[in-house]
Amino acid sequence: MTQVAEPMTERAGAGAAAVPHWIGGVRVAGTSGRRGPVFNPATGQVAREVDFASVEEVDAAVAAAKAAFPAWRATSLSKRTEIMFRIRNLVETHRRELAAFLTSEHGKVPSDALGEIARGLENLEFSTGIPHLMKGGYSEQVSGGVDVYQIRQPLGVAAGITPFNFPAMVPMWMFANAIACGNTFILKPSEKDPSASIYMAELLAEAGVPAGVFNVINGDKVAVDRILEHPDIAAVSFVGSTPIARYIYETGTKHGKRVQALGGAKNHMIVLPDADIEMAADAAVSAAYGSSGERCMAVATVVAVGSVADPLVEAIGKRLPKINVGPGSDPAAEMGPLVTKVHRDKVATYLDSATKQGATLVADGREHALYKESDGFFLGLSLIDDVTPVMDCYRDEIFGPVLTVTRVATYDEALKLVNDNPYGNGTAIFTRDGGAARQYQFDVNVGMVGINVPIPVPVAYYSFGGWKASLFGDLHMYGPEGIQFYTRAKVVTARWPDPGTSKVDLGFPRTR
Ligand code: NAD
Repeated sequence: MTQVAEPMTERAGAGAAAVPHWIGGVRVAGTSGRRGPVFNPATGQVAREVDFASVEEVDAAVAAAKAAFPAWRATSLSKRTEIMFRIRNLVETHRRELAAFLTSEHGKVPSDALGEIARGLENLEFSTGIPHLMKGGYSEQVSGGVDVYQIRQPLGVAAGITPFNFPAMVPMWMFANAIACGNTFILKPSEKDPSASIYMAELLAEAGVPAGVFNVINGDKVAVDRILEHPDIAAVSFVGSTPIARYIYETGTKHGKRVQALGGAKNHMIVLPDADIEMAADAAVSAAYGSSGERCMAVATVVAVGSVADPLVEAIGKRLPKINVGPGSDPAAEMGPLVTKVHRDKVATYLDSATKQGATLVADGREHALYKESDGFFLGLSLIDDVTPVMDCYRDEIFGPVLTVTRVATYDEALKLVNDNPYGNGTAIFTRDGGAARQYQFDVNVGMVGINVPIPVPVAYYSFGGWKASLFGDLHMYGPEGIQFYTRAKVVTARWPDPGTSKVDLGFPRTR
């Protein structure tokens, strides 16, 4: 392996060398001979390439992480806390540089990129409480002169495999708690926007994270499969689409690993007839089209109950032409391009299938000038009304700036629609009736619920997780369940008898 010397910020320009790996505290150029393109979605040009790791390169990262584990695990909680504070401060200080990578490779506009980083920072802040979070329990005198205590210990080497849509926040969801707990970590970011991970690796090193504690392996299925089968990796966190999440969970657990695998989504926003229509329309537009709809908690479908449908569709429709679509370099842009041309074109196919299957296309994003004239991967905002559950645009996760509206007559019909859906990531209800909202929170089979809040992403001191096909595994991500995921319990039963008081007793130990 060849160590790459130049700083990331210099080498990140167009035409620069491929985005490397980060192993043992240094940038390492790939040697597999395999690379992938990294586009600038606003221009449609290949901005740089990214190295795709071989099995041997993954093994080198695991070896570095394994070697670093004993000393990192033995590092005092106070010292680890101090380092987590420094990471937090460096990410905060350099948030604009980090955001620039998100804009140039993902396409999201700077305000959105900074919002993503702010939500990631919450996780770093949570992890600075690690001395408190790692506390165990102690029971004195469970039997005569016998005490029992439980301690939580790190697992060893943990790996994180992350999606393209949050290149900074989702890695922070994982590595903040993983390393604070004393694990060492290997991140396999999305090959579509890998630079943010290497930049964060540099910040972690600057913060004092020892070499080998945090590693980045760039690549594709070859790297992922090696992670899933590697005997020295104890745990895998995954965020991405449902088919891959299911594969990661099944393969990782088959190889004896602890796995949490978060999948795709189809988030419903129920609007009851008594809702404030203007507020509901603002929320639907913000949550459906923010980040071009490429958010796992985006509102994908509005469920309009009873008489609310006509005025609500009209209110949403009125807002769409006012949204400024453009590249992140334009300070006025509110919504950027999609991540790749392939993805943008796939999203656009749902507009045709919807009309063929009987839906009403209220706004067609293909009419936007940037869709027609730009080389960037732009698509304007689309709104589809009269959507039924059998249509492709309802059944599939579109993951683009397309909002569908399904009209139902009653709350019960709305609830059934949500509960029958295979996904269960997020949902929201808009109403002025507290009783109805409480009933929905009680009834709905979805992991994260918003009441007059369209994107209910929990703060970092709760945990993030969907139900049904949106999460495979037992523990949700980050927050208290993240600490549980990255540690295992050890229970110690101890006594300090006086000499000469022991005797042989073959009976099963009793406490009474
Ligand atoms: P993806 O599943 O295509 O990729 C995710 C990761 O898996 C990437 O690192 C990728 O390299 C890897 N991967 C892809 N195909 C693979 C294969 N065949 N074998 C092994 N590894 C593979 O997801 P994406 O397109 O990057 O991200 C968008 C998806 O992620 C959407 O479905 C979205 O809902 C979901 N998502 C979910 C959450 C959540 O918290 N539930 C959050 C963000 C994104």
